[in-house]
Amino acid sequence: MSNLKKSDVLAIEALRKRGYKATPQRIAICRFALKDRGHPTASLATVYKTLQVLEELNLIQELNFPHGQARFDSFMKPHINLVCSQCGDIQDLDEFTTREIVEKVAAEARFTATGQRLDVYGFCQKCGSTKLATASSNKKHHDSRRLP
Ligand SMILES: [Zn+2]
Repeated sequence: MSNLKKSDVLAIEALRKRGYKATPQRIAICRFALKDRGHPTASLATVYKTLQVLEELNLIQELNFPHGQARFDSFMKPHINLVCSQCGDIQDLDEFTTREIVEKVAAEARFTATGQRLDVYGFCQKCGSTKLATASSNKKHHDSRRLP
């Protein structure tokens, strides 16, 4: 591994401090979690433990949902998570207002904010339109299958 990035070095250090070997697999997990804004789930114990190390470094945050698996978010600035109730997709909305609200609220309450979460639930564009498409194609299907 010669092409190590800055974030790799951070992750490797953190892993070693926790007594984990910085295996290529763990480094790949770190890269994926930090680079992609895909809000990965962590169903495997190795993945989960590795991501927890990144969380301790404040490089990612864990998103817990009442139903379902923990998801991780590498976007640490105040933002809105648009959570699709159908496919589970999470989109980040970098809304400037969110930052202002957090700063204002924290200042007024004399509260030192170290993190925040704002989730909006609903249906993503894909699921919203699939829902409509499925409804109409089901109808067609039903009609063509009907015996004369
Ligand atoms: Zn969706």
